[in-house]
Amino acid sequence: MTTFLGPLGDLPPDEMRAALHRMADWVADYRETIAARRIVPTVAPGDIAAAIGGPLPATGTGVGMLLDEIDEVVLPGIVHWGHPAFLGYFGSTSNGPALLGEIAAAALNVSAMTWRTSPAATEMETVVLEWLRDLVGLPDTFMGIVYDTASVAVLHALAAARETALAGVRTDGLAGRTDIPRLRVYASTQAHSSLVKAAIVLGIGEANVVHVATDELHRMNAGLLQQAIATDRAAGMRPLAVVATVGTTTSAAVDPVREIAAVCAREGLWLHADAAYGGAIGALPEARALLDGLALADSVVVNPHKWLFVPLDFSTLYTRRPEALRAVFSLVPEYLRGDATDGEDAGGPDGRGAAIDYMDYGIQLGRRFRALKAWMVMRAFGREGIASRIREHCRLAAALGARVEREADFELATPVAMSVVCFRFVPASHDAAALDTLNARIVAEVNAAGRAYLTHSTLGGCTVMRVGFGNVLTTEAHLNAVWDEVVATARRVVGG
Ligand code: PLP
Repeated sequence: MTTFLGPLGDLPPDEMRAALHRMADWVADYRETIAARRIVPTVAPGDIAAAIGGPLPATGTGVGMLLDEIDEVVLPGIVHWGHPAFLGYFGSTSNGPALLGEIAAAALNVSAMTWRTSPAATEMETVVLEWLRDLVGLPDTFMGIVYDTASVAVLHALAAARETALAGVRTDGLAGRTDIPRLRVYASTQAHSSLVKAAIVLGIGEANVVHVATDELHRMNAGLLQQAIATDRAAGMRPLAVVATVGTTTSAAVDPVREIAAVCAREGLWLHADAAYGGAIGALPEARALLDGLALADSVVVNPHKWLFVPLDFSTLYTRRPEALRAVFSLVPEYLRGDATDGEDAGGPDGRGAAIDYMDYGIQLGRRFRALKAWMVMRAFGREGIASRIREHCRLAAALGARVEREADFELATPVAMSVVCFRFVPASHDAAALDTLNARIVAEVNAAGRAYLTHSTLGGCTVMRVGFGNVLTTEAHLNAVWDEVVATARRVVGG
């Protein structure tokens, strides 16, 4: 039996148990009543800080009172992303199994930096990565690693691309070198901004991200990509990598990955596929064609925290060139040598051994046990359960698309793709500029009312309203309520 050292130790076991029971009820109540809540809070900037701020009290507070404060001062400032009518962004969704996994991971609080520092965390990460890889339909030549976000994943992918293309950046850096010309990376005009941040961090530079134009369905034009590379080479620049997007942020468009891969192969460029959102569609056998060519990429990111029901944060990077990641990130300081095991047991899964030291494949040393929540979700839902939920979200998106098309003065801005619907209110009374303002205003008013949440974005130079399904609690009734709200708000705004 552990001894608790009064004020110098942890909570006494009985108090802890009682608080955990209370917290269990709190979580269950929150999930049960979430649909009845106002989605966005009514607080002003600074309200929450004023309620909880001030100097740290000198003496401790009982956890019972702190639990009360979660209700009193935290909840009033929460946007309820888990609300079934929250349809903005790629709404990450929590759920029972995931919550249980998070609690257990926090209790264990291990660091999966090397296999030896927590064999179960490492091996569960490997197993979950293999399940996800199969779900997405990538071959077992791809090795995965879990990071926090897709933004961090693309940074790692481009670091590996840079080290592969240019010898010695790891040791000598970039500054002051006359042997390295301007580096260029390419992506479509619809690619996510995280690529630009990666280019900034890696010394490539924001100006050297080339945005290639898209076709009428917002997919990268591979012919124009080829031309851009040729132009840059003629100007003495050094093309490095291409990012193809499988499920763009605004409209879930899918770049022609196979064609882009052929360009990359001809030109000797690293191909990173951003399937952060779209990779999940691979769970549907009938939709696998959307991922055509994905296995030709050098690296692929899939974010289970977008559309695979694992709560933030959980992002997976797969690469068929794990040695390139290691070449950049493997660095074992003396104090970790006793724990480093990577490669000791070649012959495990994929011939890489089970004793993987994931710290060697990324910037992070301390790595929380993220795989546990993913494992809980995947085991609790099963392959079919995951696929059925994704299929339902696609069905809801198609149903909303049909409603948009039936409504006077509304139009789809682009065909419905995966679980994303982009649409516009286009009354004849408004010219193009006024329509942009109008559509942005409708989104702002719908969101402010607190019963639904959408995102606004631009597509083809026009402001559009956007809905993304991804919440396990969203039903057709929520969809209908959100749509009625959008239509009523639109008519009211125009009437006014
Ligand atoms: N890639 C795409 C296509 C996205 O839509 C997003 C975010 O919405 C990201 C990357 C960045 O994801 P994260 O927030 O995990 O960095």
